[in-house]
Amino acid sequence: MSALRAIVVTLFPEMFPGPLGHSLAGRALAEGRWSLETLALREYGLGRHRSVDDTPAGGGAGMVLRADVLAPAIDAALARMPTARRLLMSPRGRPLDQAMVRELATSTGGLLIVAGRFEGIDERVIEARALEEVSVGDYVLSGGEPAAIVLLDAVVRLLPGVMGDAASGGEESFEGGLLEYPQYTRPALWEDRAIPQVLTSGDHGAIARWRRAEAERITRERRPDLLSRTRTAAGDGD
Ligand code: SAH
Repeated sequence: MSALRAIVVTLFPEMFPGPLGHSLAGRALAEGRWSLETLALREYGLGRHRSVDDTPAGGGAGMVLRADVLAPAIDAALARMPTARRLLMSPRGRPLDQAMVRELATSTGGLLIVAGRFEGIDERVIEARALEEVSVGDYVLSGGEPAAIVLLDAVVRLLPGVMGDAASGGEESFEGGLLEYPQYTRPALWEDRAIPQVLTSGDHGAIARWRRAEAERITRERRPDLLSRTRTAAGDGD
């Protein structure tokens, strides 16, 4: 299994690896389980001021990243990684979910991630370079960099050998279409609150049933949309 390669096209290369240089992702980076490059958009800027943006055609507030700056930067990234999956972080994109994260973690061609800024990027680049728009949620960030970091963090922890306990990936929120059951650890009694008795019973069957029931209860209460998705996917809902 070869390491995952990622390259981020950004106006702010100094934002990387940022949080991805620490903890799980940082250790995996140091161990060579994945690699991260940046491509600085400013180097493709035009004129003495290396300008990268201009006013929106048709008027309106803000600035737009120019096609003739962004495309050469993307092409330079593609020259390094010709078969990369081409992603654009964008609030208009396909909402990132655990299924997509799993899919991206197996991208053998690597990931090319474009981080937008200002009001966004010239639409023609999205078409001409066949960029796949990906959103991290229904809210607006000031730039694509934090979104790219979120995406890469989720992907990297699924790479082989990254999570210490391989089993810990399988039981978490969204795996199996459910949110996770409540977790507890020592002390057994804290501020008059005890750990649910079943968890200290040593009865593994009872523990598994309790966890399943709790996961279903929490999902029903908080995210009924996830349950209906599982039912549709499974055909019945078991
Ligand atoms: N005017 C745009 C928002 C631009 S925000 C609109 O209304 O759709 C500037 C940049 O931040 C975007 O180009 C994108 O790269 C990034 N961004 C903002 N919100 C995001 C989100 N929810 N998911 C992914 N990227 C986002």
